[in-house]
This record gives sequence, structure tokens and C-alpha cells, in this order.
Amino acid sequence: MRAKIVAGNWKMNTVPSDGVSLVVDILEKLNPTQMGDTRVIIAPPFTHLIDVIDHVWEEGHISVAAQNCHHEDSGAYTGEISAGMIADLNIDAVIIGHSERREYFKESDELLASKVDAAIRHSLMPIFCVGESLEQRQSGNHEKVVTEQLTNGLFHLSPEQMKSVIVAYEPVWAIGTGETATPEQAQEMHAAIRAHLSSKYGDLAEEISILYGGSVKPSNAREIFGKPDVDGGLVGGASLDASDFVSIVHAMQTAKGGLRAV
Ligand code: PEP
Repeated sequence: MRAKIVAGNWKMNTVPSDGVSLVVDILEKLNPTQMGDTRVIIAPPFTHLIDVIDHVWEEGHISVAAQNCHHEDSGAYTGEISAGMIADLNIDAVIIGHSERREYFKESDELLASKVDAAIRHSLMPIFCVGESLEQRQSGNHEKVVTEQLTNGLFHLSPEQMKSVIVAYEPVWAIGTGETATPEQAQEMHAAIRAHLSSKYGDLAEEISILYGGSVKPSNAREIFGKPDVDGGLVGGASLDASDFVSIVHAMQTAKGGLRAV
């Protein structure tokens, strides 16, 4: 059974002290009965990781992720953070290939594949993001773009390594724009992603969680999460508001009716 996951990507928002208040607020508002077996992942900036991990340490269903890592383990890379440094803080996961990194930092598929390797070397779960631009969708190339991103970023992994990967489908045109893919568009692409994973990894594809990201809000989360191949969400803007984020987590459990276990 694949895990139900709601992850919050704080991006470059909040200062560390505000980040602690936000995580405390989230923990207070999460209702274990409404949360069920949904796994929550919080991805604050690097500067917040130590404080945030301290606050969630005892919480079974809550993990912390970094938003990026370097592909090398150590060396003369001023200003960079390695996967080993992150893992040493008892962080569980790392976001790799977010469209903002692909676009603004020109991260190539090849570089992202090596970041995935670095994460796995240090037992971090890669939350591997894929997604098409508006132009690519309008020209009907969205499925091709996304399946190529998966092939180039992940298909060198062994089945054993692949088991630790979480995929996030984030159409670039829906990130931070208020535009959301319709639940049908999300389902169509998630099914295509699963079929592509299955072409390489067979039945293992059924075990891999595929999250939807792109303007998920309390008002649309339940309908999107209700689709059979949508296993949760990667939430940007709404994850900075404790009430909204917690509503989205609770929507996951309502949408799936508690049928899938972690
Ligand atoms: C994201 O940054 O991964 C994201 C999906 O952002 P938003 O929810 O704000 O669209």
C-alpha cells in the first residue's frame, strides 16, 4: 500500500523564529483522528532545520525535508549543503528538481540525477519533482516532457533504490499562480506517470507515492486527493498558514476514506 503524504514547501519564506512558531502552530492544530495515517512532511529553509526537527522529533507521522542538496558529498563548493550534512540532522527527505530550481538555477536532468544519487547514498528520500510549462501543455507535449524528466532523473536507480522515491507532479503553470490543474488533469497525468514508472519497475510503481503540487488549497484539496492515482500533495503557499495546511492534511484523510495505510 502506498503512503498518503502531504508535504509543505516553505520555499525561502519565514525567518527561523517564525518558522518555529509555524511548526508549533501546525502541531497544535493537527488532529490525529482527522489526520489518520497521512504522513506530513515539512520542508523549511536550511536555516530552520535544526529547530524544526527538534519540535517534530517525537511525532510519528511527521517528517522534515530539506528543499535542495548538492550532488557531491563534500569539497570546495562554497555556500552549498550536502546530503550527508542534511542526513546527519536526522532529516528524512529532500526535494529535488523543483521547477524553481530547474528554471532559476538551470538545474539539468543530469545534475538532478546525481542529486538523487547523493540523497539515496545518505538515506534521504528524494521528493523528485516533474512538471511541464504552460507552453508545453498547450502544445500537447506535457506527457512527453514529464516522462522524459522521470526517465532522465530516476531510471538509473535500482528497484531497491526506487522504493525510497516520492514523485511530485507539479505543472509549472499551476505553481504559485492560483491556477490549479483540474482533478481530471491531475489524475490523467498521475496515471501516465505511474504507467511510465511501471514500464521500468513493474508492480513497484503501485507502491510509489505520487503527489500533486500547484496551488493546492483547503478549497480544492479534497477533490484532487480523491483521485485514485493522487497520493497526496506538495503544497507551497498554503503551507505557510497553519490552519490552511492542517485543513489540507485533514482533507487527505477525508478524500481517501482511510482506505490506504502507510
Ligand atoms: C510548490 O512550490 O511546490 C507549490 C506547489 O507551490 P504552490 O502551492 O504555492 O503553488
